[in-house]
Order: sequence, then structure tokens, then C-alpha cells
Amino acid sequence: MTGLSGEKFDLLVIGGGITGCGVARDAAMRGLSVALVERDDFASGTSGRSSRLIHGGIRYLEQGQLHLVHESIRERQTLLRIAPHLVKPLAFTWPIYRGARVGKVKLSAGLLVYQLMAVGRSRKHSTLNAAETLEREPSLKSAGLTGGAVYYDACTDDARLTVANAVAARELGATVMSHTRVTEIIRDGSKAAGALARSQHSGESREIRARVVVNATGVWQNAFDSDERARRLRGSKGVHIGVLRERVGNREALTLISPVDGRVMFCLPAGQQAIIGTTDTWTDEPPETVHASASDVDYLLRSANAYFPRAQLTPDDVVSAWAGIRPLASTQAANPSAVSREHSIVTDSSGVINVTGGKLTTYRSMAAEIVDRVQEALGREKKAAPTDSVELPGADRPKEIARLQHEDPALSKPLVEGLPYTGAHLVYGVSKEMAQDLSDLLIRRTHLAFETRDHGKSVAPRSADIVAPLLGWNDQMKRARIREFEEDVAHMFAISKA
Ligand SMILES: Cc1cc2nc3c(=O)[nH]c(=O)nc-3n(C[C@H](O)[C@H](O)[C@H](O)COP(=O)(O)OP(=O)(O)OC[C@H]3O[C@@H](n4cnc5c(N)ncnc54)[C@H](O)[C@@H]3O)c2cc1C
Repeated sequence: MTGLSGEKFDLLVIGGGITGCGVARDAAMRGLSVALVERDDFASGTSGRSSRLIHGGIRYLEQGQLHLVHESIRERQTLLRIAPHLVKPLAFTWPIYRGARVGKVKLSAGLLVYQLMAVGRSRKHSTLNAAETLEREPSLKSAGLTGGAVYYDACTDDARLTVANAVAARELGATVMSHTRVTEIIRDGSKAAGALARSQHSGESREIRARVVVNATGVWQNAFDSDERARRLRGSKGVHIGVLRERVGNREALTLISPVDGRVMFCLPAGQQAIIGTTDTWTDEPPETVHASASDVDYLLRSANAYFPRAQLTPDDVVSAWAGIRPLASTQAANPSAVSREHSIVTDSSGVINVTGGKLTTYRSMAAEIVDRVQEALGREKKAAPTDSVELPGADRPKEIARLQHEDPALSKPLVEGLPYTGAHLVYGVSKEMAQDLSDLLIRRTHLAFETRDHGKSVAPRSADIVAPLLGWNDQMKRARIREFEEDVAHMFAISKA
């Protein structure tokens, strides 16, 4: 680990999910000296396991969370503007069936409010009759279909949006480290003064001194809370499955009400795949190894089959299944779906600023609020950064990948036939997106591990050969990295019986 000895940063951010990376970018843009430390890869936690939506959150209207919807719609428009290469508009069809919990009148009223909140910032929704709904999505069940609506939100690449914030922070002068775990908060008396951090690869430990510490470790947060009082987090597990889109037949995105429990769920297009999700159940599973269970998969298949009867999906159709944990404010609520997705920022008695909850969509405004607190703690005047107008890095990726392929035609060969990933994507991931190992590359800089039944195991050796010269791996290191990758995908994509 270089560049840390003797240096005292204004801010140490622990955790390189979307929250921590967003905070690091905002703080660096305000001119603070910043260190960002992530135990594994950026977005290896919840931020790389989301539904990949940048959305107003229409379902929150039902719960009366108008503030969250308003903020989310504003942020959706901001992200479409500052990251058009990572955030794209997406049309959703919401079919309505006779006797549905959300009927025509309720949906029209909800979409009208949604529209009014986005006035001038979104394409207008429209209502559909049954024939129009089927024209948009011919694979839907026709029996009982009374109509529907089409409305507009946006989708993203969650992991690369997170990485883009880390890259931006680094370009602005922040010291940004992945694969480095904070093992302990250092205190001067009772006040937090930095942390001890250990490199995952070298095992070397260093002290990182900082005037202010932000704990953005998401579901890991409780591990660092010095105050019992401040332990305010509970995890809710969300599972997605990926199946071949030609099996489901969806053309675009669909918002559906699960016939199993009446929850809002999505069927989303992702290249050749349809992603179906999600579940929402309290969990105590460790976030490092959280994965889907057979009953999670069964719930999602039963829900989807009710809408796409011709598909009759079975567990054999599942190309991959994965889980993430939502960090939610601690509550006794029986049903996690009822818990607010608003964030909370709590400074504990040692001065550590802890962040709980939030959404991928609202990360930028949440980061600005956190950095206001940091400036307050530093005794400096609050000075907003133009994070809503400066473009996020990475727009040049297609051009850079084409250049790499032109210079070395071997890098044009698809890693897996039929998928849009080549050796050049891996080289770009290492050289521009701070990827350090095969999981970073095959799970998060590309989505190859989600989109193949073996989760990328068969291309791991070839991928290791391509990036070894860039990462300085010898044969022994290559073998070790392949083994670690196999362990990572075995944890992430396992489907347990219970
Ligand atoms: C199933 C599911 C679907 C979702 N879908 C959406 C969606 O479509 N749209 C949306 O807006 N939101 C969505 N969300 C919510 C959103 O994904 C989360 O709110 C957000 O990703 C949380 O980010 P975070 O940075 O707080 O946490 P994380 O992404 O978990 O980041 C915390 C980081 O801290 C690191 N860390 C932990 N301990 C240490 C340590 N000791 N030292 C250093 N680093 C450490 C972890 O490795 C991790 O990378 C979804 C959530 C789930 C679970």
C-alpha cells in the first residue's frame, strides 16, 4: 500500500459500495483529501446485486413515501444526464388483470402522481387496453387481462456505476484502495482518528489517519458501531434469477404483482437474459456468502409462470440465481417490504458518521448530505460540489475497447460465443476500472458470470492469461486467482436446499 505513510487525510471512507464511492467523489470534488478503502472489490456487496434500476420507485407511492419518490425521480433525471453511458431509459409495461390488488383506477392515479412529480423530466405514461398490452408483450397471459399501462424509468449497470464513482474520486486526487479491509478503527482518546487496514493480497497492514471517518459498509455496518445504541441496521435478502429471455418472451421490462404474496416485482431485459426479482425477507446470513435458496427460486418461478404460462419455467431454466442484502433501518416490522428505503445518517459517540439504508438511485444526493456532515465535523464551511453536472467517467469505453481490438485482433474474440464480452473488455477493466482479479472482471466489469451456466469457470484460465501481464501474475499466481474466482462464484451463485 503506497501513499499513506505519515499522511493525514481529511476523510477516510470505509466501504466501496455506491454510497462510499459516491461520498469519495463528492468529497474529493469539494477539495478534501480523501482515502477510500474497500475490503473486496467496488460493488462486491449489495451494490453489485441490485435490480439495476434507477427508478422513481413507483411502489413507494402506495406506502405514501412521497419524499423518497420525489428525490428518486429527480436523481433519475440527474443520472441520465451525468452518466448517459451507464444509465439508460427503460419502458415498463404494467399489465392489469381482473381482481388485481392494484387495479386500473389505482394504477392510473399512481402513474398520474408519478408523472406530476416528474413534470417536464420524463416521457408521459399511457394507459393501454388488453389488446394494446398484448401487442407490447405478446407472451403475457391473456385470460383475465383487462388492460395495463406503460411508464418510463431507467436501468443501469450497478457495479460499473459504482466503479465510475471510485474512478472519478481517484481522478480528483483521492487515494482509492480496493481489496483492503479495515480491521479496526483507531482512536485518539475516545475520538475516531482513522483505521487499520490490511491488504487482501499482500497481507500487509497500515494505519490510515484521518480527521473524519465515514462508515459506508452497508450491511457490514454493525461490525464497526462502537455504540450499541447506534446498531440500527437489519438485513433484508433480495434474490434475482436470470433465465433465457427467449424462454420468457418479454420484450421490455414488466412490473408485476406476485400472485404468491401480492408484492411488486420485475421482469427485466438484460441482453439475452430476463432477470426476475426480487424477494424481500429478513435475513441474518453473512453478506459474504449470502445466496439464493430453492424456495426463493420457487417463489420467483411461480410468480413469473402465472404471467407467462407458455414458458412454464422450471428450476432447470435458471441460468443463475443470486442474492443481495438491503441494509434497512432496524425495525421490528414483520414485513421488510413495508420498511422505508430512506437513508439515515448517524454520528456515533466517537465521531464516526454511519450511513444506513438508501438506494442506488439516490446515492448522489445522499452522498452530498453526508459530505455536508463531514465538512461540519471538520469545522469548514459547507460548500456543495457540482456532482449533478459533471459527467461520470467511462463514456469512452466502447471507443477504447475498439482501439484495443484494432491494435491486437486476438482481443476481439468473444470470451463466450454469443455474449458481448472480449479480451479487450478485460484489459479495459484492469487498465481503466481498477479491476484486480478475475471476480472483479467476470462478475462486475462484465456480467459474464451471471450470464453463463458455469458462471465463467470455463473461461477463467483464458481470462487469467489475458490479464496476467498487466497484473504481474506468474503461473502460481494465476492458479491462485482462478481458484479464488471459483470459490467466489460457488458462494455467490449457489442455490441452497433450505
Ligand atoms: C435485491 C436488491 C435489489 C435492489 N435493487 C435496487 C434498484 O434496482 N435500484 C436502487 O436504487 N436500489 C436498489 N437496491 C438498493 C441498493 O442496492 C442499496 O441500497 C445500495 O447498493 C447500498 O449500497 P452501500 O454502498 O450502502 O452498500 P454496499 O454496496 O454493500 O457497500 C458496502 C461495502 O463495504 C465494504 N466493506 C464491508 N466491511 C468492510 C471493511 N471492514 N473494510 C472495508 N470495506 C468494507 C463491502 O465489501 C461493500 O462493498 C437493491 C437492493 C437489493 C438487495
